[in-house]
Amino acid sequence: MNPEIEKRRTFAIVSHPDAGKTTITEKFLWYGNVIREAGHVRAKANKSYTVSDWMKIEQQRGISVSSSVLNFPFEGCMFNLVDTPGHQDFCEDTYRALTAVDAALVLIDSVNGVEKQTIRLMNVCRMRHTPIITFINKMDLDGRHVLDLLDQIESVLQIKTAPFTLPIGVGKLFKGVYSIAENTFHTFNPDDGKQEIIQMEGPDDPRLVELCGENWVNQFKEEYEMVTGGMDPFDHEKFLKGEMCPVFFGSAVNNFGVRQLLNAFAKLAPPPMIRDTDKRPVKPDEDAFSAFVFKIQANMDPKHRDRTAFLRICSGSFTRGEKVFHVRTGRDIRLAAPTAFLAKDKEVIDHAWAGDIVGINDPGLFRIGDTLTDGEKMNFTGIPDFAPEHFARVTLLNPLKSKQMAKGLAELSEEGATQLYEPLKSAVPVVGVVGELQFDVLKFRLQSEYGADVQLDRVPAHCIRWVKGPEADVGKFAEEYAGDCMMDKERNLVCLFPNEYRLNLALKNYERLSFAETSQG
Ligand code: GDP
Repeated sequence: MNPEIEKRRTFAIVSHPDAGKTTITEKFLWYGNVIREAGHVRAKANKSYTVSDWMKIEQQRGISVSSSVLNFPFEGCMFNLVDTPGHQDFCEDTYRALTAVDAALVLIDSVNGVEKQTIRLMNVCRMRHTPIITFINKMDLDGRHVLDLLDQIESVLQIKTAPFTLPIGVGKLFKGVYSIAENTFHTFNPDDGKQEIIQMEGPDDPRLVELCGENWVNQFKEEYEMVTGGMDPFDHEKFLKGEMCPVFFGSAVNNFGVRQLLNAFAKLAPPPMIRDTDKRPVKPDEDAFSAFVFKIQANMDPKHRDRTAFLRICSGSFTRGEKVFHVRTGRDIRLAAPTAFLAKDKEVIDHAWAGDIVGINDPGLFRIGDTLTDGEKMNFTGIPDFAPEHFARVTLLNPLKSKQMAKGLAELSEEGATQLYEPLKSAVPVVGVVGELQFDVLKFRLQSEYGADVQLDRVPAHCIRWVKGPEADVGKFAEEYAGDCMMDKERNLVCLFPNEYRLNLALKNYERLSFAETSQG
């Protein structure tokens, strides 16, 4: 493989708010030598509602962090870290970020264990067989038992665990971690931050007891026995298929265990992999360029209406000013000024490789899922719409603006944060969102950018499903469930089930139909 492509590691962090994503990202940037160089604040008129978590770093450290993607070098690799907006701004973009990566870091708070948002995001990783590396954070707090945490990951996240390190002690008495493969003990000294790595003969080495005390070492030895004797050893093939994950323990805020984690990422996580299209699989080191759009971000400055489209490059390389083929419209376009996102600033780039994420100016041409190639007519698959969880009817309050409202709803759904549906039995459009904050964003932007004042009336619903199967059955279903059925923007049939009972009834009565959780399911 081309060395430039082989050194790419494109990943995202899967976690629940407050698990430590911002803290660990900051440490990554520090290891990548990105943070030390920076020191200026770029004025940003962030009038948007969606504030990336990374902006916290920006505010606290006085550096400029563009949301969406950060890159940093480490140990000969070039890492691209794709943001997964997490707090109030959790939305469909968060899911879709996972379609653009080759691996994910699952970050778990040792006190809270596996939490809701992690479960939701892991569902997407599982669907895609994304390789996972797990970091259990906050070992300096009185967290759960090691074996409980591993058990929870296996049962709730449905992935086999292979601990690479095991902690000794916990909370205030956290002594450090033992590396199983290397038989080394890494001491934890929160006061001076100094870390010693001590080579041991094995878990019975008497120096462990001297350093950590007999009780902790006894507990550790039991866990060591369980892990090395009772669990399957790490299997790289299973890891690459997303069936088994290495597990590390540490404390991000104390910069403990982070370097080991990054080393493991560099060594174990795959470079860009083969991606499927509707025509053929595409290899990353093919000469021909190909990419897809996974995110569209409206300009944060309301005076400039243009947007940024984020591309994941899947094969070949891309040089500034080159012409590429936009498959959906069949047009050649010139990507004049792609930008990469280094933590120190947004930079115009001249060259990008498979695995990289670039942002390009979007005059309104792109949609989520669009494919760009050197001329070949093919479309990347696996960039679906994900089932929204909250729904509302949209009623226009100033009737003269109906055209503007329709345009606004269509354009904002192209950006991918809201989905737009046309009910079969009503002329009032319905919007669906993954995160509720998107309703506020939608209302605000329809008003400020399109002059349309709308009222959003929530539609209580159990779930939405894409209805697929033989045409006759789909037609019969649409008739029977007409009151709950709608068309999505691609004219696919969806059903908004008001309760679980109705869904189960449909599953029972329409065996030949599938009720999918994503548009490509
Ligand atoms: P995010 O919401 O996932 O981005 O989480 P943050 O990185 O903002 O961290 C949430 C809180 O947890 C902050 O107060 C951090 O200082 C704290 N935190 C992060 N890592 C650790 C850790 O290893 N130990 C302890 N005790 N606190 C941590």
